[in-house]
Amino acid sequence: MPPWLRVKERGVQAEIISIGTELLLGAIVDTNAAYVSRRLAEIGIDLYHRVTVGDNEGRIARCIEEALRRADVVLCTGGLGPTVDDVTRQAVARATGRELVLDEEMLGWIEERFRGWGHPISENNRRQAFKPEGAIAIENPVGTAPIFIVQDERGDVIVLPGVPHEMEHLMEHEVIPYLKGKLGHQEVIKARVLRTVGVGESQVDSHIGDLMESANPTVGLAAHPGQTDVRIVAKAASEEEADRLIADMERQVCERLGQVIYGVGKETVAKVVARMLAERELTLGTVECGVDGIVGRQIFNAPDGPSVLGNSLIADTVEEAIGLLDLPRSQFRRAGDFSAEAARAAAREGRAFLEVDLCLAVWVRAPIADDPGERQPMHIALDTGQEVIVRTFQYGGHSERATGWLVNRALDMVRRVVL
Ligand code: ATP
Repeated sequence: MPPWLRVKERGVQAEIISIGTELLLGAIVDTNAAYVSRRLAEIGIDLYHRVTVGDNEGRIARCIEEALRRADVVLCTGGLGPTVDDVTRQAVARATGRELVLDEEMLGWIEERFRGWGHPISENNRRQAFKPEGAIAIENPVGTAPIFIVQDERGDVIVLPGVPHEMEHLMEHEVIPYLKGKLGHQEVIKARVLRTVGVGESQVDSHIGDLMESANPTVGLAAHPGQTDVRIVAKAASEEEADRLIADMERQVCERLGQVIYGVGKETVAKVVARMLAERELTLGTVECGVDGIVGRQIFNAPDGPSVLGNSLIADTVEEAIGLLDLPRSQFRRAGDFSAEAARAAAREGRAFLEVDLCLAVWVRAPIADDPGERQPMHIALDTGQEVIVRTFQYGGHSERATGWLVNRALDMVRRVVL
């Protein structure tokens, strides 16, 4: 079956081969592959493999042959230069069983560029006018090396330069239109991210695991401290159709996960909490020990933050917070300063002291140790004016993640109360 017909049934599959020994040595980061991946996804081409290979003709040729066994289109970047270690054109010729031939049109393009610069063309640069026999040659208006596409019976091999701005220009103006033309129709891919807070990846997975098996739209998870994102990606012939597929899946995910979803897209818990408080004309104060005032700061930095954040009391240690709030020391000494009861009292006293509607006390034994082995208790108390809710969490891990996790948990307590 011709390669571009079989794809009608299962979609076009591409593979990227990044060529360059510098990439293997870690001397440069492969930004080309990331760019090409993104652009392919945007036009609905599936990508299942990316390969990196050094400047070695035999190995590059083998990578291309392997890729052609799996994919309909193979995109190579790098190794089109004029020097002896630029061997991509030879490797493509070898992999597709063709001779390398001089293309007069390509030579003309290169000569014209050199004329424009006022230099004579060197023998090295003449090498860049060679292409595998029968390949489609494409002018490179932003560099010396023209590019080419070999339409092999196993699939297309598209060869792009390594220099990122040249590669991007040619991808945008030549390769993407070429691929769209091949597709015969334009597919769109749309994504929507539902943001959850207070539940881990495995809990989310246990609720929507079956939905995650869907092929279109796909549903995937990404975990951050205290938060898990549910990403829904739909592929369709039109934007409306993609929106419909996403809306349908979103409804099912929302039914299963309910209130743990706090927002979509770029929303943060702090933005949502600040907005909810502003809508209800409530103020929030914080008493924070050992987290450097991060909870109040996050609220303050949200668009509605300055109007809802009352005062914050920031202490390095719980002992210091007890002193500042004038909590009865004897009582907390007995319970041990670092207790849930002390956090409860701090929220209660803090609400009066800071003159706010709600007061959140974050009680952490400072500084949070960077110890993945040991679990540390952390207390969060929220005085709502009607009751004081106290929750104790255990957290083990790096301090940065622990802080992010704690902030999200604390803000989520406020969110749930206000909901
Ligand atoms: P030239 O004509 O300049 O030799 P080329 O097509 O042969 O271009 P390479 O020699 O492989 O490309 O790479 C040229 C430069 O482009 C590299 O030194 C590097 O800075 C950058 N480059 C190459 N490949 C990548 C990549 N995958 N990601 C990011 N940058 C890259």
